Amino acid sequence: MVSVELVLKNGKIMTTSGIFEGGLAVEAGKIVAMAKDPSLPTGEQTIDVKGNFILPGFIDAHTHVRGMGRSNYEDFVTGTMAAASSGITTIMEMPITLPPTSTVQAFKEKREAMSGQSLVNFALYAGAGSQNIQEITGMAREGAVAFKTFMHPPPAGREQDFWGFYVTDDGSFLEMLRTIAQTGSISAVHAENPEIVEHLAKKLRSERRMDLSAYLGSRPGITESEGISRAAMLASEARVRIHICHVCAKEALEVVRMAKSRGQMLTAETCPHYLTFTHDEIKHLGPYVKINPPIRHRDDRDLLWEAIRNGVIDLVASDHGPYPKKLKDAGLEDIWEAYMGAPGLDAIGPVMLTHVNNGLISLKKLAEIMSENVAKIFGLYPNKGALSVGSDADLVVIDMNARKRLDASKFHTKARDIALLYDGFEAKGIPSLTVVNGTIVMKDGEIVGKPGTGRFARP
Ligand code: ZN
Ligand code: ZN
Repeated sequence: MVSVELVLKNGKIMTTSGIFEGGLAVEAGKIVAMAKDPSLPTGEQTIDVKGNFILPGFIDAHTHVRGMGRSNYEDFVTGTMAAASSGITTIMEMPITLPPTSTVQAFKEKREAMSGQSLVNFALYAGAGSQNIQEITGMAREGAVAFKTFMHPPPAGREQDFWGFYVTDDGSFLEMLRTIAQTGSISAVHAENPEIVEHLAKKLRSERRMDLSAYLGSRPGITESEGISRAAMLASEARVRIHICHVCAKEALEVVRMAKSRGQMLTAETCPHYLTFTHDEIKHLGPYVKINPPIRHRDDRDLLWEAIRNGVIDLVASDHGPYPKKLKDAGLEDIWEAYMGAPGLDAIGPVMLTHVNNGLISLKKLAEIMSENVAKIFGLYPNKGALSVGSDADLVVIDMNARKRLDASKFHTKARDIALLYDGFEAKGIPSLTVVNGTIVMKDGEIVGKPGTGRFARP
């Protein structure tokens, strides 16, 4: 019998047509066979997965590893170790770093830098904004997976990192969207109405409100729903596919639902922190859980789950946001001073699997929102996002019965000292094996892969 590099046997394989009990064979980074155990080829290495589930590797559609000039926040090695520990086999890296990924030159530099360092595959967002419309076509040609745009100006002090991915006015926003449409790519938008936020923040500050609840108060649901509806309308006019990042307000869900019901090419994302916590549960953590948009209330959270179940939300992504501790500690006395974002890559796998165990969604639905749908939306399917003969050997083995108390001090992210959100989280359901391009990068919680295993993923 022919021999292949790697065989996984005795598994429950999640395929698009249901669970297949058996195993799969891997050669040269591809799945070359899927069969009942007795019919599998022999492997140079064979792993008995002991009846556990094998899923297509997770694809994180929203990651800020940063690297390069911001490697002190997180670098491509530590960030992708964290990803591998959660069962993620491809990250889609956002453009906020130094230099910002918003020119053809910077795009090539980042692709080059990640190639030697990433443990998992990586796709790259390019930044698009009022400042760099002339760079869009070239970055699409270089393999940008989508174009990221903020509808608000950069936070004070971060102008350099944000160059080339925010819009200053709706006129240049529309022109930018039309340019993206011509490339056939996707516009991914952080949609909030900056004028409402600015007005409310100013008012709350003048009342000397400096706590996390004040921050939440400055970004009510209308800031999201207005931003999304304006972006959707402009995208419709420009005939461009639009992806709405991190939806978390119930008002926003209604706008997404309406856009979809009129047939617009619009997709939507949410994140584990919005699905796991409410403001009241985490407000004592102050600046460490200052995330934009903010973690909201119970009814928002419940409606997000419903939106996942009925397809209004297409995918779940980490929005992993690492920072040095001092940039978060700046908000201990005055919340407005803290940087926005929280690390999430180490936690997303176990946290989402725990929600499956708690009955909020099925494991099949999880495979859709964290792999299949992501690959389909961003043009990576069926090489990624599916387990079938001919697909890339990117997969994760899941032990649904394993329990673990998450310990932030053991996270792989450099930002473990600010990762308070999931510290102590009681998880049930753990990724136990992560395979990237046929190479084992994580086994039983230990990172065994080498930097450079991951490859650039082009849509
Ligand atoms: Zn954002
Ligand atoms: Zn983000």
